[in-house]
Amino acid sequence: MKKYYHRKITTDAIQEYVGVDVMETIIGANIGQDAIRFQFGHDHFHYDNNSFVAGDRYCDEQRSIIRSAIARSDAQTAREAFGRLSHTVQDLYAHSNYVALWREMFPAGNPEQVEPELRNILANGRLHSGKLYYPLEALSFIEKLQPTVLPLLPRDSHAWMNLDDPSKPDFNYAYSAAVKRTRTEYATLVSSLSQSDLKLFAGLEKG
Ligand SMILES: [Zn+2]
Repeated sequence: MKKYYHRKITTDAIQEYVGVDVMETIIGANIGQDAIRFQFGHDHFHYDNNSFVAGDRYCDEQRSIIRSAIARSDAQTAREAFGRLSHTVQDLYAHSNYVALWREMFPAGNPEQVEPELRNILANGRLHSGKLYYPLEALSFIEKLQPTVLPLLPRDSHAWMNLDDPSKPDFNYAYSAAVKRTRTEYATLVSSLSQSDLKLFAGLEKG
């Protein structure tokens, strides 16, 4: 996903549950994952290159950072970890064929109906994510060069597969799945917290 959409997805998903400053901390950590230094050698941040196992493990690491940070009342660290977690889960839908497989199962389904955690898809041998064919792939990030570079890249490349912005036909499905998944991650976190811990994390009286 492009930064603008990571921000929008995260806002749509949880804005009503957290304080304004908390929201900004979470978004800052989320979009920080797309810093240039994290684009190379950090496939698991973005579920690139079929890094499903490493991506899932990274998500678990963030969840455990959240738990231990909250246990020592370090809300800032917990919020940043939630931001990183939200980035990775959002990218799953933009960088893999999850949406394509869902649409295959539900040809008449609209973006609002997409279910983000169907076992049948997550455990499907056909689930795959875009490979990064460097150095050519790097040129595809420059919008003007895309028409030249795209035909030279294989169909399983990140450049062909990504649903990072509305120029891609199934973007609305990836967007909706990412919002729902972010909301689920937040709900799971909330259900594990006491009222006082939730208040500490969310910066609000109510969660
Ligand atoms: Zn990313």
